[in-house]
Amino acid sequence: MKKVAIVGGGITGLTAAHRLRQNHVEVTLFESSSRVGGVVRTETSNGFLAETGPNSIWLKEKRILSFFHELGLESEIIEADPNIRKRFIVREGRPVEISSTPLSLLTTPILSLSGKFRLLQEPFIKSGGLSQDESLANFVRRRIGKEALDYAIDPIVSGIFAGDPEKLSARFAFPTLWNLEKKFGSLVGGQLKRIKHSKSTGNRMKRRSVTFKKGIQSLTDAIRASLGDSIRLNSDVNRLLSESNWRVLWSNGKSGSCGSEKFDALVLALPAYKCSRLLFSDNAVQPLSFLKEIEYPPLAVQVMGFERSKIKHPLDGMGMLVPAVEGLNILGTFFSSTAFPGRSPAGHATLTTFIGGARNPNLGQNSSTQLQSLVLQDLERLLGVGGEPVFSRSYLWNNSIPQYNIGYGKILAKISEFESSNSGIFLSGNYRNGIALRQCINSGLDTADKVMSYLG
Ligand SMILES: Cc1cc2nc3c(=O)[nH]c(=O)nc-3n(C[C@H](O)[C@H](O)[C@H](O)COP(=O)(O)OP(=O)(O)OC[C@H]3O[C@@H](n4cnc5c(N)ncnc54)[C@H](O)[C@@H]3O)c2cc1C
Repeated sequence: MKKVAIVGGGITGLTAAHRLRQNHVEVTLFESSSRVGGVVRTETSNGFLAETGPNSIWLKEKRILSFFHELGLESEIIEADPNIRKRFIVREGRPVEISSTPLSLLTTPILSLSGKFRLLQEPFIKSGGLSQDESLANFVRRRIGKEALDYAIDPIVSGIFAGDPEKLSARFAFPTLWNLEKKFGSLVGGQLKRIKHSKSTGNRMKRRSVTFKKGIQSLTDAIRASLGDSIRLNSDVNRLLSESNWRVLWSNGKSGSCGSEKFDALVLALPAYKCSRLLFSDNAVQPLSFLKEIEYPPLAVQVMGFERSKIKHPLDGMGMLVPAVEGLNILGTFFSSTAFPGRSPAGHATLTTFIGGARNPNLGQNSSTQLQSLVLQDLERLLGVGGEPVFSRSYLWNNSIPQYNIGYGKILAKISEFESSNSGIFLSGNYRNGIALRQCINSGLDTADKVMSYLG
């Protein structure tokens, strides 16, 4: 039986391990911490459910739904209420409603009349900069103007990447937008054509935002259960030696022990900055050191539960995003208990707030008490939250989400070169194939398929 090592027990590594096991490959998954799941993390207490990592999954591929079914999670899936279409973006210190329908920017007060007029000019603006690695901010200013950048794109960027649009690459961080210009010469025109021709066919289905009754961690827990004793926790892989195949060396931070074992192939499903430190011989050779160029800003997540009567806002939407130009502390708040049932006890509401990111890298470094008061300050002003929370959890991700910044294309090319000259090693994870959970699952499944064809 062929033996494969998976290094890293986040959703990507777990998915790859699960798929390889299904194909009768002997798998060992090395995870440096005392739990699997990586940034997926659900906590519950007194009827409150806190997601201190991801909150939801955009389900739009049948392949991913089948994966959930394979794991026995079919009856656990819960969908965000499709009638809750509202989102809020803060303008002049108050949340302004926008709907999630395309082109809704033309009808909401989030843009001034001149901002909307500028948007209407978009189809007549010539394409440009296609061959360059253009920043997202530049791309958006060029196509739809500064106001749309400040009040539409910047908050969305914070909500997805916790990133800085001046640094992110339009082409790699927002390929759909980039391709609209490339293919149709216009974002507005291209989007209209897409809507006209979109159908649920093949692997695609109508997209919906989902989670599980007991939280996102149900997913990684289910994979963990299916892998059984293939998982080695507290096993920090630090060196890989090329012999007739690959030898993996690890140390156990808890017991102080270390070990090594040979494998026919390796999947590295680690964060990029961790991959960059791996040694590849008895000397201090770090051929993946170029991966340290991928930035991971710190991001803090503050989950708070309140008596419902203490919040004036109707919370009748998925959440609220805060543009940088508003100068507030927070990046945005997800209305957890509006979006999904079972997130708070009756008569209460749960709010999940993000703070820090590339916009404010130092804010995330505050103590949990300071963080809570910074968040409360903004929530009081924006949502009319009065009084102290009855439930509170804060979690700081020192290295949160990989940024697909300008220059990212060159890093991707180096990753491919590395794989070509080191056969039997496969790199996978959110720094390579998209940061969303659904992309990480796809990446894990695709990597397992590549390993299978390598093993023959
Ligand atoms: C706060 C936050 C909110 C998010 N919200 C959403 C959301 O709502 N929806 C969505 O789709 N996506 C969201 N994302 C993104 C998504 O959750 C992540 O991109 C994805 O979970 C990353 O999975 P991964 O397996 O690639 O990496 P990770 O989860 O980072 O897993 C890597 C694993 O490798 C282990 N490891 C590190 N070094 C070693 C070593 N030397 N040896 C062995 N093991 C090692 C780590 O301990 C970790 O378990 C969010 C991310 C964050 C941080």
